[in-house]
Amino acid sequence: MSHIKNIAVLTSGGDSPGMNAGIRAVIRSGIYHGMNMFGIRRGYDGMVQGDIMAMDAKSVANIIQRGGTILKTARSEEFKTLEGRKQAYENLKKHNIDALVVIGGDGTFTGASKFIEEFDIPIIGMPGTIDNDLNGTDFTIGYDTAINTVVDAVDKIRDTAESHDRLFVVEVMGRDSGLIALRSGISTGAEAVLIPELEVDYDAIMKRLDKTRKNKASRIIIVAEGDKEGGLVVAEKIKANFPAYDVRVSILGHIQRGGKPTCMDRVLASRLGVAAIEGLLEGRKGEMAGLICGNVQFTPFSKAIKHIDKINTNLTRIVEILSL
Ligand code: ATP
Repeated sequence: MSHIKNIAVLTSGGDSPGMNAGIRAVIRSGIYHGMNMFGIRRGYDGMVQGDIMAMDAKSVANIIQRGGTILKTARSEEFKTLEGRKQAYENLKKHNIDALVVIGGDGTFTGASKFIEEFDIPIIGMPGTIDNDLNGTDFTIGYDTAINTVVDAVDKIRDTAESHDRLFVVEVMGRDSGLIALRSGISTGAEAVLIPELEVDYDAIMKRLDKTRKNKASRIIIVAEGDKEGGLVVAEKIKANFPAYDVRVSILGHIQRGGKPTCMDRVLASRLGVAAIEGLLEGRKGEMAGLICGNVQFTPFSKAIKHIDKINTNLTRIVEILSL
């Protein structure tokens, strides 16, 4: 029998579409299992400040389809200090909170690990980030929505590129990870995809552009923001090699974080929210609930945050083969 009675949930780090579906799943499955449920506003900052409220089934009604996070999210410098974490622990004690679910990325799980070590409170994580850069889950909550937003935007850019015979360099999000760029590049028929994980072979790209020049009215090159040079520099290099090209740059920016979560993100967040509560009640702590090959699995925070290279070089080949 678990001693846990009162569980709180928070969202932390960058927001991602599907966090609301995750909050809903945590609150409702907690109530289903007889728990008293709480929400902490603004991530660890709210925990340090004591911004904690009781939540019931109704408080998460009509949010599954909304982007962002109703609990809001923040970055907290205070939580990085022992003093800040002590203050956060005192605030949890005031509400008799004896377990936490944190939805966020690697920073969130690093903070959670320290908190468990220092105060021995059970915490389960859910992967909430558009970057899909965590170990222990095939997909993170928000990634599918973000790539679909990129695909929609690039399809529109392709229309104007085609009408004007232009080459567009489109910069997409992904600080250290090219996964958004790679998948959206395949789905939009991009001529090249530049990602931080792989050395850019400019010669090969230029040759490819040259070879296919006569066949194409429009060209799209997707560049991940974490690429060493970024969209503007890439565009200049192409322009220098092909002065006749009408080269334009589009930096998609924060639209990639917002919007209604896709069906896939809603289902993922719902499954992982239920798993997080059931994991806590089984006595788990310091682990992230993730989905691997369709099955829920738990991975220790220390492993989940190790940045692994999820880049499948088969996918980079596909871009090359299909851009003839
Ligand atoms: P994303 O990468 O999607 O933005 P994230 O969870 O990695 O998500 P961060 O801003 O890196 O986002 O981390 C969220 C919060 O976790 C930080 O604001 C901080 O409060 C806490 N945190 C991060 N690193 C540490 C650490 N080393 N010690 C204690 N707390 C930490």
